[in-house]
Amino acid sequence: NEKLLEIKNLKTYFKTEEGEIPSVDDVSFEIRKEEVVAVVGESGSGKSVTSLSIMKLLDENGYIKEGEILFEEEDLTKLSESTMRRLRGDDISMIFQEPLTSLNPVFTIGNQMAESVRLHLKMSKKEAKEHSINMLKKVGIPRADKVIDMFPHSLSGGMRQRVMIAMALSCNPKLIIADEPTTALDVTIQAQILRLMKDIVKELETSILLITHDLGVVAEMADRVVVMYAGQVVEETDVFTLFKEPKHPYTVGLIESTPKVTELYEKLTSIPGTVPSPLDYPIGCRFADRCPHAMRVCIEREPAYEEVENHHHVKCWLHQEVENERDREKVNV
Ligand code: SF4
Ligand code: MG
Repeated sequence: NEKLLEIKNLKTYFKTEEGEIPSVDDVSFEIRKEEVVAVVGESGSGKSVTSLSIMKLLDENGYIKEGEILFEEEDLTKLSESTMRRLRGDDISMIFQEPLTSLNPVFTIGNQMAESVRLHLKMSKKEAKEHSINMLKKVGIPRADKVIDMFPHSLSGGMRQRVMIAMALSCNPKLIIADEPTTALDVTIQAQILRLMKDIVKELETSILLITHDLGVVAEMADRVVVMYAGQVVEETDVFTLFKEPKHPYTVGLIESTPKVTELYEKLTSIPGTVPSPLDYPIGCRFADRCPHAMRVCIEREPAYEEVENHHHVKCWLHQEVENERDREKVNV
C-alpha cells in the first residue's frame, strides 16, 4: 500500500527549568494506507509525545526541534495552525484514553458531533444529525436516535468511548490516532471496543496509529509494531515477527513479562529497573543498565538503528558488528 504518514528523524524536546528534555529523540517510521501501526513502550518512552507532535498539540514548552512529519507528502511541521486545525478534523482525528475530558459536558452528543460534521463535510443541520445517528449506530450504540440528545455524563464509560470513536470516524479521516483508547475500560468492554475499531477501520479504509503500553492490545489490533524506549525506536517489525522472533532485549523483556500475549488484555508487568532520566541519558545504549546482555561496547557507544532482516529494524549491538574482543566483554548489571 501507499505511504500515508512518514516520520523522519523527529526530535521533540521540552524546555524545563532543569534543561531540555529530549522526549522524542530521532524517531522514524511510517504508516501505509489501511494499516494499523502500534507504538508500544512504557510511560516516558515518548510514544504519546510522538502522537501529539503529529497533531501539533504539544503544550507550550514542547517543540519540534528537528525532522519531518510527512502526511501525504506534505510536511506537517511546516503548516500553520489554521491549516492544521482543518487537517485535524478532515484527515486526522484522535481518540483519547478518557472520553470525559475530551467530550464537552455542556453540549449534547448530537451537538458535538454535528458541529464537526457540518464544518468538515459541509452538511445541513438535518443531514448532519442523520449522519451522526448513523455513525452512532455503526459503533453499536443502541437507541442512537435518543442518545444523540443526551449529555456525556449520562452515558457509561464504554458508551462514551463508543461516542468518541463515532466522532473520530464521522468526518471520514484518513488517519486515526488512538492513544491508549481502551485503558480506562474494563476488559470485556475493552475487547468489544477493539473489535469494533478493527471492523470499522476495514470498512472505512482508514489507517490507525495506536499508542499503547499493552501488548495484548498490540496482538489484537496491529499489523506492524514500533517499540520505543527512552525517546527512541529500538525495534520495528510486523506483528507476527515481533512476537515470534523479537530481537531487541527490551522487546524480549516486554514479551516475557506479559504472561500470555495470545490471551488478550494481560497488562505488562515491568522489567526490573527504570527508564533513565531524560535529563541525563547515557552516551551508549539507553537500555544498558537493565539489559541482561550488556557488553562493554553498549556502555561506550550508541548502537545504530539498522535493518537487520527484511523490514525488521533493531537498535542493538547484539545484532551489529562488534569489532573487537574487548568490546564484547559482558558487563554485570
Ligand atoms: Fe542490551 Fe547492548 Fe543491545 Fe543495549 S545494545 S539492548 S545493552 S545488548
Ligand atoms: Mg501516554
